[in-house]
Amino acid sequence: MPLIVQKYGGTSVGNIERIKNVARKIKKAVDEGNQVVVVSSAMTGETDRLIGLTRELSNRPNPREQDMVVATGEQVAIGLVAIALQELGVPAISLTGWQVPIITDNVHTKARIKKIDTHRIRKHLDEGKVVIVAGFQGVSEDGDITTLGRGGSDTSAVALAAALKADVCEIYTDVPGVFTADPRIVENARKIPVISYEEMMEMASLGSKVMQIRSVEFGAKYGVKIHVRSSFNDEEGTWIMEENEEMEKVVVRGISHELKESRITVVRVPDKPGVAAKLFKALGDKNIVVDMIVQNVSHKGFTDISFTVNKTDADYAEEIAREVAKEVGAEDVERNDKIAKISVVGLGMKTHSGVAGKMFEVLYKEGINIYAISTSEIKISCLIDEKYAELAVRALHEAFIENMEGDIQYE
Ligand code: ADP
Ligand code: ASP
Ligand code: MG
Repeated sequence: MPLIVQKYGGTSVGNIERIKNVARKIKKAVDEGNQVVVVSSAMTGETDRLIGLTRELSNRPNPREQDMVVATGEQVAIGLVAIALQELGVPAISLTGWQVPIITDNVHTKARIKKIDTHRIRKHLDEGKVVIVAGFQGVSEDGDITTLGRGGSDTSAVALAAALKADVCEIYTDVPGVFTADPRIVENARKIPVISYEEMMEMASLGSKVMQIRSVEFGAKYGVKIHVRSSFNDEEGTWIMEENEEMEKVVVRGISHELKESRITVVRVPDKPGVAAKLFKALGDKNIVVDMIVQNVSHKGFTDISFTVNKTDADYAEEIAREVAKEVGAEDVERNDKIAKISVVGLGMKTHSGVAGKMFEVLYKEGINIYAISTSEIKISCLIDEKYAELAVRALHEAFIENMEGDIQYE
């Protein structure tokens, strides 16, 4: 009997009518002869609401206790989905992360899945039940409830699909698939029928939050076939799978943007060996992940060092940069929260040149200044002012995707 893992995002279970709709979709898959494991997110807005409650009490809530609060959102949703299924005459049982159990490390609020024990799920499947598992949560080896980072239900679903060797992992969401750019910003964005794990990982890490990056990493590692599709209709969505030769023919698969970073600049640093090491070691010691780094050409023995970090880490990173700046005799530390990172992503960049030049030209023609650039084999990212983010995404989409229509076949 085929086994399907279906994941429903927050909007898909956003109210009682939608939960009934989800139950009907699950019933359909059961009627078609599949064993079904469902992963549900919290109802839309609920995770934000719960985090907000903790913030009303503390600026830096204890992470263990934050997880305790935030994980409840998913528990409500899975119970409701189970009841809705039972009302349709479909035997169903809901399980929290610790009931499965989904074992994680103990890094609260961004835990990583280490192991999934599938015995209990298998037992319920053999009893003919649909098993509904709470997304986004697990349990540490010490027995504490953990959560997997925002968007973590995707990772719960793909990891479960890998552990159960499911035939497919279906990610049901509020858009019809993965698009060439965020469809909320680019009206002409189109659905990508097939995308490689590698491209999807880049897009996810560069701000296309349709899939949590960890989930795609799991998919790639264990070869899980992922189908991202709408929970509001039956249309085919986007398949995420192994790369093939055909895929390299497309130079740019998509445009991503990220508004969640801040730039910090250490101004007029004496240009001598060891300064950068001191700064980035201090940040690393405090678990702050640094993204882009730029060091200007030195002028009369001084230089500027800029780097970007997640906005949630920016206060702390600025504090550390100020300490290091004082130590090494730098003039000042500046911070800019209004920046955006815009990226073009595509496997074809491995074999096609000229993408960087074209990207810079498009931004230049729109009068957009570039503060920093970073590249990998399959992506180019530019740091720009936040106010130009949407303009840049649209212009790049037009240049790299809409105007290339003759070359690329999209649906
Ligand atoms: P869910 O609650 O179902 O997990 P998310 O909000 O996490 O849904 O992800 C879906 C959203 O991702 C879409 O509503 C869309 O605005 C956004 N998104 C950003 N980039 C893309 C993209 N390239 N393709 C599709 N959706 C994207
Ligand atoms: N409910 C969690 C969040 O809002 C997990 C998820 O939706 O995937 O981040
Ligand atoms: Mg999501």
